Amino acid sequence: SFDYNNVLVLGLAKSGTAAAELLLDSGVHVRVNDYKADENSEQVRRLNAKGAEVITGGHPLHTLDDIDLIVKNPGIRYENPIVVEGQKRGISVVTEIELAGQLHKGDLIGVTGSNGKTTTTTLIHAFLEADHKPVSIAGNIGEVACEVARTTSEEETMVVELSSFQLMGVETFKPNIAVWLNLFEAHLDYHHSLENYYQAKANITKMQTEDDYLVYNADDDSIVSFLSTAAATRVPFSITEKVDGAFADEEWVYFKGEKVMKRSDIVLVGEHNLANILAAVAAVKIRGISNDAIHKVLTSFAGVPHRLEFVTRKQGILFYNDSKATNILATSYALRSFTQPTVLLAGGLDRGNDFDGLIPYLTNVKAMVVFGETQDKLADAAKQANIEHICAVETMDEAVQTAHRLTHEGEVVLLSPACASWDQYGTFEERGHMFKQAVHKLK
Ligand code: ADP
Repeated sequence: SFDYNNVLVLGLAKSGTAAAELLLDSGVHVRVNDYKADENSEQVRRLNAKGAEVITGGHPLHTLDDIDLIVKNPGIRYENPIVVEGQKRGISVVTEIELAGQLHKGDLIGVTGSNGKTTTTTLIHAFLEADHKPVSIAGNIGEVACEVARTTSEEETMVVELSSFQLMGVETFKPNIAVWLNLFEAHLDYHHSLENYYQAKANITKMQTEDDYLVYNADDDSIVSFLSTAAATRVPFSITEKVDGAFADEEWVYFKGEKVMKRSDIVLVGEHNLANILAAVAAVKIRGISNDAIHKVLTSFAGVPHRLEFVTRKQGILFYNDSKATNILATSYALRSFTQPTVLLAGGLDRGNDFDGLIPYLTNVKAMVVFGETQDKLADAAKQANIEHICAVETMDEAVQTAHRLTHEGEVVLLSPACASWDQYGTFEERGHMFKQAVHKLK
């Protein structure tokens, strides 16, 4: 149970609702404050019925009276006057991750980084599962962590994907194994400075002791420069050098000098995914997971949906769905993953930027099929890169059929739009599904 008397849950949504229910069921008095929640919604009625005080329509400051903990939705900014006032009154501000950490008694593996979290978290979970270990997955990736932690046993490992927003609000939270993938400049509007963003990520290891492990990217200087302040036992991974952790040469994946598996058996493509694989291998080898289990997963795992996901092979042509690539950086990673001639499908919401940054990565691209608001801008970049075929299309079916016509055996068709999807689709997932459907419809 929890050591709090009166908790304010700020911001309902999925995670706030889960946190409020957990606390109510644990006998804690809960006040819920969400400025736009509907008082007559089923969600609010249920919380009311369990004894919560629900305040909607604004964030009046008296909401804070007698409160000894604020569980804040990660989406609510620290500048929000109610959070500012709460901190002024000395009230702790946490996210539901903190509650999850207090509740879960088994092994806890936390994964953070600017990119690759979902892929790495998924792999770690799959490795443990393939070795028949009791394991659950939570966090940013799907189920709310404190909800999952309610049902985990002491023997069970919980693998949690952690965003910097979630990590801002932790006090006692401590993964037994923390995985820190990389640190790019991102989310600076929320964190204001790289320093703050960095500090939020670093919270993943702040409560760790030498009995815990920090799996870190030895190729990332900003992470390495931070290490001297970490108390955890460090386990590096690297795609460039032989480190005393996980690394790979042309032929093999190694952990601490031991051969784990052949690289040619790995289905997942991309150098960035090799980094994710090495991070995941390091995290589970610490716990003695078998090479067989790792091999079994990596010979079948085709990627998290919409992230450089292998779709199918038709007439020797390989189709990949990277609909999650909503900016130039992500698309450049995808393009660097292939040496074969590639037809690139790109385009979407126009955010005002040009696509010159893509040009250096278009060397293997033999044709580009462009669509959406940015199709002219992309066509322009393609022209500058001297791409032979540049085709403007309207629909996904048309895009896939055009790409198919232009490709031969051994070549790649890649959807990696470099743009958000909202001009033509509800979500990037919807766009990815449309792509996969169109591919499966091909004769
Ligand atoms: P996240 O959960 O952190 O958003 P994902 O695993 O969903 O990460 O991957 C999202 C995108 O980020 C990928 O499609 C790829 O473009 C890029 N990416 C993934 N892993 C890495 C990495 N290790 N380094 C750099 N970029 C990566």
